[in-house]
Amino acid sequence: MTDAQQPTGSAVATEPEDLNPFHITQQQFDRAIPHLARLKRGLIDFLKSPVRTITVSFPVEMDDGSVAMFTGHRVLHSQVRGPGKGGIRYHPNVTVDQVRALAEWMTWKCALLDVPFGGAKGGVVCNPKELGASELRKITRRYISDLGDNIGPHTDIPAPDLYTNEQTMAWIYDTYHTMHPGRNNWPVVTGKPLSMGGSLGRKQATGRGCLYATERLLERGLVAGLNSLAGARVAIQGYGEVGRVAAELFQAAGARVVALSDSQGGIHQPDGIDLAAARQFKQQHQTLVGLPGTRAITNQELLELPCDVLLPAALENQLHRGNAQRIQARLICEGANGPTTPAADEILARRGIPVLPDILANAGGVTVSYFEWVQNIENEQWELEQVNTKLQSKMRSATDHVLDRWSQLNGLTTPQAAGSWSVDLRTAALVIAIERVADVTLRRGIWP
Ligand code: NAD
Repeated sequence: MTDAQQPTGSAVATEPEDLNPFHITQQQFDRAIPHLARLKRGLIDFLKSPVRTITVSFPVEMDDGSVAMFTGHRVLHSQVRGPGKGGIRYHPNVTVDQVRALAEWMTWKCALLDVPFGGAKGGVVCNPKELGASELRKITRRYISDLGDNIGPHTDIPAPDLYTNEQTMAWIYDTYHTMHPGRNNWPVVTGKPLSMGGSLGRKQATGRGCLYATERLLERGLVAGLNSLAGARVAIQGYGEVGRVAAELFQAAGARVVALSDSQGGIHQPDGIDLAAARQFKQQHQTLVGLPGTRAITNQELLELPCDVLLPAALENQLHRGNAQRIQARLICEGANGPTTPAADEILARRGIPVLPDILANAGGVTVSYFEWVQNIENEQWELEQVNTKLQSKMRSATDHVLDRWSQLNGLTTPQAAGSWSVDLRTAALVIAIERVADVTLRRGIWP
């Protein structure tokens, strides 16, 4: 994290907040440890550490005939409960510590949703906005071929993440299949196009999962006076695979989307944004800013707007020590991975604002990726309704587990809107997930 990326506006802090995502995962884990009394020190160290970190550097011939070097990482955090699973992102700010953090969050996410995967993540340092399709294809092929057998249908299975999509997954499949011809390789990657073994519902799954988790939390009374999304004001940062879909689904569930943003800025309309117009405007202008009938705002302003649900769906470290005190949302649903820092978690808990943590809120994506993997192994295609029903059941059940454990850890008899609490929802979710991974580790026995 460079100085330029440090959040500004901190009224309380004297020292800059540590925004290294891997350090943040360690702090989050450390908050869960006191509630995991029976875990031995060495086991804790094992559970906290990635088992494998690979960095590859490779040349790519660019469209103008020049040759450029690229660096990619793939981190496997855990294979205790199954093969590694995790997306690949293309972004100029990809670092090995960021990928380590994302891989660890995947481990806890899969354990919490009870899908039989471990955690992994990958990233290539590049700016996809400045790359043509053939350059992106060459980067993808070279990155995947250099990873070699470190990915595979039963070892480590990639998926989309920031600035990668089903086209990227199609190239990944094709590269792997060329390297391993003559067998069913569909399950090597998820988030593929429908015509190539993709699952119905996968593209919408992360946003849909956010919806199901939010609805369940509201039904269970965590936000006083707001028992459903009917009429709720929702502000969403990020208008990609997660944010755009969440906007449309939350609106279909009765909410009013009052703010949206992309990397160039945000738009605000307290009466509700016309989402069809927003989608068309974004397609035409590559940004939302300037949509008629809306007011242009910054991404910072969006986070601090009065609203019922704030859904960060872009990058890490958006809610931090410098702005947590000014957040006016009544509930935060983490569509993105790692949007809230530990200092912000503390402030929000003190202020009684629940945060549906990333490892729960955005787990719909990996859950339907798991469904896709199962369909690929069975050479089946499930109906959309079947996918969504199964997803809803998993999201509601995981949300219930987290709320129940959260109540128990806070000494409440039932989940309820409380003034403030000492143990937040993230810690409760982590306690469940870590216990599950620890349990399987011990049942399998430490090798040899
Ligand atoms: P995407 O590339 O489809 O979209 C990203 C969006 O964020 C774009 O609208 C972009 O303009 C916006 N953005 C980029 N920089 C921004 C900034 N500085 N401020 C505001 N907006 C900015 O990515 P995605 O797949 O929607 O992923 C978004 C987040 O959700 C990431 O944190 C990712 O790890 C997480 N996530 C994605 C999935 C998935 O299935 N795609 C699953 C779980 C979690």
